[in-house]
Amino acid sequence: MSFQNPVFIPGPTNMPEAIRKACDMPTIDHRSPLFGKILHPARANVQKILKSDTAAVFIFPSTGTGGWETALTNTLSRGDTVLAARNGMFSHRWIDMCQRHGLNVQIVETPWGQGIPTDRYAAALAADKDHKIKAVLATHNETATGVKSDIAAVRRAMDAANHPALLFVDGVSSIASMDFQFDAWGVDVAVTGSQKGFMLPAGLAILGFSQRAVAATTTAQLPRTFFDINDMTKGYANNAYPYTPAVGLMNGLLLATETLLAEGLENVFARHSRIASGVRAAVDAWGLHLCAATPDLYSDTVSAIRTPEGFNATSIVTHAADKYGVAFGVGLGEVAGKVFRIGHLGSMTDVMALSGIATAEMCMVDLGLNIKLGSGVAAAQEYYRGSVAQRLEDAA
Ligand SMILES: *Cc1c(COP(=O)(O)O)cnc(C)c1O
Repeated sequence: MSFQNPVFIPGPTNMPEAIRKACDMPTIDHRSPLFGKILHPARANVQKILKSDTAAVFIFPSTGTGGWETALTNTLSRGDTVLAARNGMFSHRWIDMCQRHGLNVQIVETPWGQGIPTDRYAAALAADKDHKIKAVLATHNETATGVKSDIAAVRRAMDAANHPALLFVDGVSSIASMDFQFDAWGVDVAVTGSQKGFMLPAGLAILGFSQRAVAATTTAQLPRTFFDINDMTKGYANNAYPYTPAVGLMNGLLLATETLLAEGLENVFARHSRIASGVRAAVDAWGLHLCAATPDLYSDTVSAIRTPEGFNATSIVTHAADKYGVAFGVGLGEVAGKVFRIGHLGSMTDVMALSGIATAEMCMVDLGLNIKLGSGVAAAQEYYRGSVAQRLEDAA
């Protein structure tokens, strides 16, 4: 492996030097006004990134998976029904977590490569006259398949049925990279982590709770201690946590959020969209197809690329690591061996993306796929030449 090359896995992502350094700080008293000067502005910045005026922001020493558990245990009780689409490995794992907590999951089985079928959500909600469904789960960006779902449409389906369920959104691989509108979409709990769009090491679960979701803690019976948001609220009032916070990571989060807001959220989203479009131009030039079935589903943070029948897509990932010291993502679950993934989120530029495309191309040629060296790179170059590059540093 190489420490010089960027990584092209969809998290953990590349870390800008300044953000990495911000995580490295002397010990301070983690129950002090000094910690408050990190904690409170970091939470306020996360609220802005969620596009919310009111969300209560909670940050746990954990990962996205702990964020899922925070959403469930603070709002639900054993035996409650939740509605969830299974269209990839991450939605699958969240469903599995629900089942292990004794929730009754009404699963909408969905082909991998498709988005959340909002018509089927609408039908399930309309049929639920007794309002047994307490929460609707939505994975905004299925990192396993590179599929983006339409959260506004999920909210419209809920509103059309006049359904009072809470809306929980997994935005682990979308928030801070792709547009996410907590307030406008009526999200009740948004879940993310530090190691994707926030360009930090893994180690923080980052959540927004609506007032309705906070209120649900009074009736929710699922056991919770570490992830209890009410304990956390009490801690925050004293510039502290109910336990020891990851102070260095919090300091990194403060700088990461400042950096993103200085670039401008819309510029961040445009950068991701532009970089992703270049990657897709390369895939097209290779004569390959994305796992995502239609263009409206294409993710701007990760591309899962199908390889020809009979070819083991994982061999590209192994070969890239062994020969070129570059990391790509393997296919997971149902698409294991059928796709490889190029992560293009976080601290990423057009030029970095070109190096990833070039490496993927070398690997595919090495492994005997019928691909012309330089074809994907040229297609991406054409795309990037034609669009004005704006880099993270311009704004910072
Ligand atoms: C990465 C990811 C997760 C899991 O997050 P961890 O930080 O690995 O626990 C959950 N959902 C999605 C969509 C992800 O991309």
